[in-house]
Amino acid sequence: MTYRAPVADIAFTLKHGAGLAPTLAQGDGIGADDVDAVLTEAGRFATEVIAPLNSVADRHGTPFKDGAVTTAPGWKAAYRDWAAAGWGAVSLPAQWGGQALPHALNAACIEMWNSASMAFGIGPVLTTGAAEALAAFGSDELKHIYLRKLVSGEWMATMELTEPQAGSDVGALRTKAERAADGSYRITGQKIFITYGEHDLTDNIIHFVLARLPDAPAGNRGISLFLVPKVLVKADGSLGERNDLRAHSVEHKLGIHGSPTCTMVYGDHGGAVGYLVGEENRGLACMFTMMNLARLAVGLQGVGIAERATQQALQYARERKQGRAVGATVQGSSAIIEHPDVKRMLLTMRALTRAARCICYATAGAIDRSHGDGDAAAAANGRAALLTPVAKAYSTDIGVEVASLGVQVHGGMGYIEETGAAQHLRDARIAAIYEGTNGIQALDLVSRKLPLDGGAVVRGYLDELRRTVDAVNAVNDPAFGWTGNRLSEAVDSLDRATTWLLAHLDNEPQAALAGATPYLRLFGNAAGGCMLADEALAAIRLADGDGAARIALARFFAENIAVQASGLEHSVTEGADSVTGAALA
Ligand SMILES: Cc1cc2nc3c(=O)[nH]c(=O)nc-3n(C[C@H](O)[C@H](O)[C@H](O)COP(=O)(O)OP(=O)(O)OC[C@H]3O[C@@H](n4cnc5c(N)ncnc54)[C@H](O)[C@@H]3O)c2cc1C
Repeated sequence: MTYRAPVADIAFTLKHGAGLAPTLAQGDGIGADDVDAVLTEAGRFATEVIAPLNSVADRHGTPFKDGAVTTAPGWKAAYRDWAAAGWGAVSLPAQWGGQALPHALNAACIEMWNSASMAFGIGPVLTTGAAEALAAFGSDELKHIYLRKLVSGEWMATMELTEPQAGSDVGALRTKAERAADGSYRITGQKIFITYGEHDLTDNIIHFVLARLPDAPAGNRGISLFLVPKVLVKADGSLGERNDLRAHSVEHKLGIHGSPTCTMVYGDHGGAVGYLVGEENRGLACMFTMMNLARLAVGLQGVGIAERATQQALQYARERKQGRAVGATVQGSSAIIEHPDVKRMLLTMRALTRAARCICYATAGAIDRSHGDGDAAAAANGRAALLTPVAKAYSTDIGVEVASLGVQVHGGMGYIEETGAAQHLRDARIAAIYEGTNGIQALDLVSRKLPLDGGAVVRGYLDELRRTVDAVNAVNDPAFGWTGNRLSEAVDSLDRATTWLLAHLDNEPQAALAGATPYLRLFGNAAGGCMLADEALAAIRLADGDGAARIALARFFAENIAVQASGLEHSVTEGADSVTGAALA
């Protein structure tokens, strides 16, 4: 079973569930038809070109010999065609060869690349993030030499923070940068777990490396960002000598076998030539440009893998016959989809996937609206900041859960590699870990995002969720069942938990942080439930043919998933002592 891009669903969510129709209409001459055309073509490429390579790369891995990585058969051609079609440039600035289309549209494309293959999708995401950072912070000279090639995909980029002693605590990094007489820098040190650190897809790889100057202050305030090309670039733009850096080894890992994860060594021969991006000691701020986009993109990986796992489980459940369903009217055994427990699993998979999709696209839409000046842009900036950790962590948790349910739907065959269901679960697992673990995202949400603007950012969002609840109640359609009540309770729980956290954050930070992960889940459930209801309401307004199915899914989410809100609320507001006070023997 391979993947078929759900272009119509994606387009609907982009325009309605995530409320982006006005943004898309405002875009530089881009209308709904253009959006559909881009999505259709991306869906075709993902379905026909990338998806068939997913299991090939899983089996092939990324063999490493004499410092070189060989990607799986077919990958080089797929990447070349992908870049030539301009897919790496969708949301990048026109000045450097990008298409300057909305991030929200690119988000939808990123979802499809990652449904097709997470191992493929993660590489270009890092390049896009690097290009954004270079466009925002690089010197004119660096931009002229490197940016067009990154935007066009001719060269790929990496993002290098992690060292053996510096994972979540980036401030502990030790890679050194020394000033050279010609204004460049010499980089020495080691980075681990570097995605696409070495590969054969492009003839140059541009490493974006965090390092510390000799006189830098300790911790996060002493980190600078450097552009360090694998192959040095001559003044005329042609490739020169190899820089003083190499991949030392490639990891063997649980999933995303097609994506090379490398240990990188800098400065065997005195130091790799690096160029400062932004100001000295302000590297983390530049890296955050890359990281925020990369966090959203990793959230989209969760959506992508969940979508693929759901499609596959649905098809299997229609074909596999076992037992006789209660109330079956035909003779013989029933397709397992007819058993209520299997149906519940499939509905859970679909509902969680679509809720996470809404959250991710809404985050991307807020990023689009945040560009520019004025109150609306500032409000959108706050919204994007608030939603980014939720988009990352909720969606990637969903990715793991949905992929696991996918294995369960397949029964024993799910545990056997040949069905592909197991690969989805293996692949999904990393997304909850990299780009800041989901635990770190929850801390970010609670300790940095809730206090934004004295709590006004989160309060404004809660008001918006309440307006959705009111709208569901106002249509008074019996098909919604208990949707209005259950969403209302979920939003109330989120409101109380938010108030509790804001009240405890300063005086009892341990207690507040102990509840960060259940709070993020509560946030995602309340937001996702309301967004699915928004989609259903839009379908009613538009007399969309799918309206009944959208109402049914919103109802399923509200009555079966959003109802977990009160338990999560208690975990946040009452569960802290049993965490902080517990002794782990
Ligand atoms: C396949 C793969 C690809 C990767 N690609 C890249 C890449 O391209 N570039 C790059 O720079 N890195 C990359 N990484 C590294 C990745 O980002 C880190 O592994 C991740 O940030 C976690 O760091 P760590 O592994 O050191 O875990 P640790 O930081 O040791 O964390 C271990 C556990 O402790 C928790 N924890 C740690 N600190 C805190 C805290 N302050 N509060 C609460 N909980 C905490 C974490 O949530 C986690 O559960 C990759 C990793 C893998 C496995």
